[in-house]
Parts: sequence; C-alpha cells; structure tokens
Amino acid sequence: MLECTIAGSLPKPSWLAEPDRLWAPWRLSGDALAGGKRDATLIALKEQEDAGIDIVTDGEQSRQHFVHGFLENIHGIDFGHRVEMGIRADRYKALCPTVTGPLSLSGRVHETEARFARAHTRRPLKFTLPGPMTIADTIADAHYNDRPTLAMALADLLNQEARALEADGVDVIQFDEPAFNVYLEEVGTWGIAALERAAAGLRCRTCVHICYGYGISANIAWKETLGAEWRQYERIFPVLARSRIGQVSLECRNSHVPMELLRLLEGKDVLVGVIDVATEMVETPEEVASLIAEVARYVPLERIFPCTNCGMAPLPRTLSSAKLAALGAGSALARQRLC
Ligand code: ZN
Repeated sequence: MLECTIAGSLPKPSWLAEPDRLWAPWRLSGDALAGGKRDATLIALKEQEDAGIDIVTDGEQSRQHFVHGFLENIHGIDFGHRVEMGIRADRYKALCPTVTGPLSLSGRVHETEARFARAHTRRPLKFTLPGPMTIADTIADAHYNDRPTLAMALADLLNQEARALEADGVDVIQFDEPAFNVYLEEVGTWGIAALERAAAGLRCRTCVHICYGYGISANIAWKETLGAEWRQYERIFPVLARSRIGQVSLECRNSHVPMELLRLLEGKDVLVGVIDVATEMVETPEEVASLIAEVARYVPLERIFPCTNCGMAPLPRTLSSAKLAALGAGSALARQRLC
C-alpha cells in the first residue's frame, strides 16, 4: 500500500542537455547521443530506486520534450515548418511543428528506451505518453482543420505505440493531459473519447496525468489568476470516474484544489501530488506523510499512490534528487503510520 511514483520526467545530466530548462537542446549527437541517453536512463532508474520510489520511469531522458518526443517518428508532421503559437488557451508561446498530411507512425517511437529501462530495473515500470488532446494543443494543423478529428487520429497512433510498450513489459502506461485542465468543456465532448481510444485494448494499468503545468513562470502567473479555490477538477473528475482509465495523477501539494473533490474519483487509483515542482523548498518526510494522511480522509488507502505534482524536468538536479528522497521517505513514514 501507498506505493509511490513520479509524474514522469527528471532533469537530464548537464552533459546530455542544457540544464534547468524545458525543450533543452541536446549537447551530444549521433551515437554519442544514443549512448548518453542510455547512461542517463540508468542514472534516473538508480536514483529512483535509491530514493525508495516503488513504480519507476525512465525519467524521460530520451526525449527533448514530453509532447514533441512522441511526434518525431510520425509521417505527416513537418518539423521544418514550425509555427509559433499560443498553447493551453494562449497561456504561453511554443514553436510547434505542423501537421501537413494524414498521420501515421513510421515505426516504433519509444521501443529503445522502454526496453532498455525494462532490462535495468525489477520494479514496476511506468511509461508516459502525451495525451491526444494535449498533443493536438501543441501542434499546428494545416491538414485536418478540426481539433477533435486531429485528436482521434493522434489517439490511433498513441494506441499503436501503447500496445507495443505493453508488449515491451511496461506495467503502467500514463497519458499526460494537462490540456484537460484548460479545455473543460471539450474534455466531456471529445477529450475523454480520444483518451479512451488511445488506451483501447490495454491490459496493463492505465493512468492520466492532469496538472496545472510545470513550475515555469507562465504557469505560476496563470495559477495566480485561478482564485482562492481551484475547481477545474470538479468539472472533469466525474467524467474521468466514468471512463475506462484506471488511475488519475493530480496536483495536490501547495495547490488550491479543495480536497473533497478527490471523492469524485471514486473507483479510481489516485496518484496524489505530494511534492511541489514549482518551488525550491524541499518537502520534509513529515510534510509528505501528513498530506498523505489528509488525502486518506477522502480516498481509500489502497487507492493512494504518492507522487510528484508534475514532471521535474526543468528543475536543478540536486533539487530533484532531494525531492525524490522526500517522496520516498515520506511515503515510508505514511505507511508506518497508516497501514
Ligand atoms: Zn504535469
């Protein structure tokens, strides 16, 4: 009980990519880059194991960004034709590649890193993929010209890769859908349908991660506009509770989400963010354990998985390591007290 995990990403070593930023350019190329990704994956796994993280990830060491990493092996996307666009309802600008034709996978996307990670840990392995709504929000479209249609096409590709990842030995497949917290209406009309299509036929555990974004300045400024109570989850949790997705990963530490909203996820495993990724302050094990105890008032213990609020990719490595240790130690303390 109270097995802990991380949202997905960890910072990359500075010899692999520029530190402390998103979309960090690689510092290696060719065979050296491939070898560097493998070495960084080993470090990410070892650090999680040493910190007492029960369900580990590859730390997303092999992709430059959680969305665009998936898009690099897809026919119908032109990376040479990048457009600056406002994403997440224009919260910030990103340079996005363009869909120029029908989408299809040109082969496996994450086979190398998934199999490598599987070969080097005995712990349950989680693998993250961007969700269809979030990809559709992070790409320019000059072909489908209709966001739900584009999302469904992306969902088919995600499903193809997700089934292959399951065959590679991945235990949990998580779709990252930060866009769910932005387009609340669309979640019900087509977002969940696209997500379920991406997860169709999977026998392994399935998860959706819905946060308020990385701890970058645009997100911190946005959060300040959301008021004293963040009730976005209130709109989407009932829809998620009825879906076929097994687990929901959400933001909790230092967020203004009213705790009683967690009751709306009855029947689902809840990956509770007990580590804030938007502050340099490191949580103490005591703080982690007491937040878990508070969550336990609303979610049955056997359904609670302590987790980070979001990915830690943009954080300094020393900070991320300290937060990993706090997550592991705090979860152990909560197990002692509550189980
Ligand atoms: Zn996130």
